Amino acid sequence: MNTKAVFLTILISITIFGVVVAQNNLSQMLYDQYPQFKENEIIEKRFSHEELMDVLEKIHKSDLIKIVNAGHSIEEREIKLIRIGTGQINVLAWSQMHGDESTATMALLDLIKFFASDNTEFSDVRNLITEKVSFYFIPMLNPDGTENFTRRNDMDIDINRDALRLQFPESQILKAVQDSLKPAFAFNLHDQSTRYTVGNSYKAATISFLAPAFNYKKDINDVRENAMKLIAYLKKELDHFIPGHIAKYSDDFEPRAFGDNFVKWGSSLILIESGGWKNNYEKQFLRKINFIALVSGLYSIASGSYNNESIEDYNAIPENKEKLFDLLLRNVTVFNNGKEYLIDIGINQNEEGTSDSRDFYFDGVIEDVGDLSTFYGYDEIDCKGMKLEQAKIYPETFKNIDDLKAIDIPKKILSKGYSFVKVDSINTEDKFTLLPVNIIENNSDIKMEFKLDEPANFILTENDELIFTCVNGFLYDVRSQKNYIKNGRIFK
Ligand SMILES: [Zn+2]
Repeated sequence: MNTKAVFLTILISITIFGVVVAQNNLSQMLYDQYPQFKENEIIEKRFSHEELMDVLEKIHKSDLIKIVNAGHSIEEREIKLIRIGTGQINVLAWSQMHGDESTATMALLDLIKFFASDNTEFSDVRNLITEKVSFYFIPMLNPDGTENFTRRNDMDIDINRDALRLQFPESQILKAVQDSLKPAFAFNLHDQSTRYTVGNSYKAATISFLAPAFNYKKDINDVRENAMKLIAYLKKELDHFIPGHIAKYSDDFEPRAFGDNFVKWGSSLILIESGGWKNNYEKQFLRKINFIALVSGLYSIASGSYNNESIEDYNAIPENKEKLFDLLLRNVTVFNNGKEYLIDIGINQNEEGTSDSRDFYFDGVIEDVGDLSTFYGYDEIDCKGMKLEQAKIYPETFKNIDDLKAIDIPKKILSKGYSFVKVDSINTEDKFTLLPVNIIENNSDIKMEFKLDEPANFILTENDELIFTCVNGFLYDVRSQKNYIKNGRIFK
């Protein structure tokens, strides 16, 4: 090796070393300094297309950040395509092809703010990405679905099953963008069920990745391998913040889905599914994790560092399993015809949209009963020695809901074991109340029995002492007087 070669080797080593060091710090720096990049115009997951357009309108456009109209949805809502950077490597991302999966859309807004920022600590990162990469993204591919916060588009079509027929404008837009860019990498951004776990562990699958298959044999070509390597890299980066909470989505080939077809069309596609995180109903923590994944993913693409990763690390990521309830009560004693039985009770607190779709309430249901020892709960209680009894109605009838507001409900009603109150008349169309009790109209014939798939209302006693009052799948703890009830239901 001559002197020049030695010098070059040293220079290359320093450069590579420099990149590696920067990368190790990058995700932590993004995590620590995230508040300055968060787009605070949108801070709840149910926002409208109009609100998104308002935010995009206010963004300062430059040579670096460009926004164009990519087309329209069935109901004529504009679908925007944004470009950041001017590099040779095209990368494409899209979010909210399912209208009720908005976590990544919020993260993409944060990403715009990151690239528009003049924080000099991140200059090298921003410069490297914008010089090497042209990052295109469609935030909210399905604005009509978003309007009602539903998965499908205005004609009840799942856009993610229209990649072959391309019948609908939303699918046609995505395919046209793919055709014109031929992106080297692509990010398909979704939300998944909050009840998936990482393999058989008790930990929620907070983020699940997938490098989709492009055929039934699940072959691995260079295109898919690069996606696997980038995922292996992202898994390491995110593990610091959500240790043990990263899983892999099923890689069964779906010929009609966009992700699988993108791989066929030559793009290394990374599916990111945002799942559950305890008490993170508005998904703001997952939004932050998505932001870190996207920025560090782009940095790895720009620097080429994903090439150092192995597909073994990708393969080692456990798969999603559906093993979580929102509330799991273990070892409850129930009586039937004088006989005693031991059961576990799995309760799910399902989110239901309000009439304008901009907010939600909880509908607590008994999801499963029996031996649930192989399952877990976001909240779990060992009810050994506790006996299940039917829910009860408070003996006094109130005139209307307003009258109830003057009552200390935990003290007067919940601590006495009542899950329901009766009122003479209900003058609202709402199906829920923010009061911590269920309300029924006086002449209603609602059934209150403890039953599978029915509303979760009952009490638990121990040696004839009341321990818990369950209202709409949430508990009031009589001994500590702690109230965990998010809302009651209104039954007419
Ligand atoms: Zn989805």
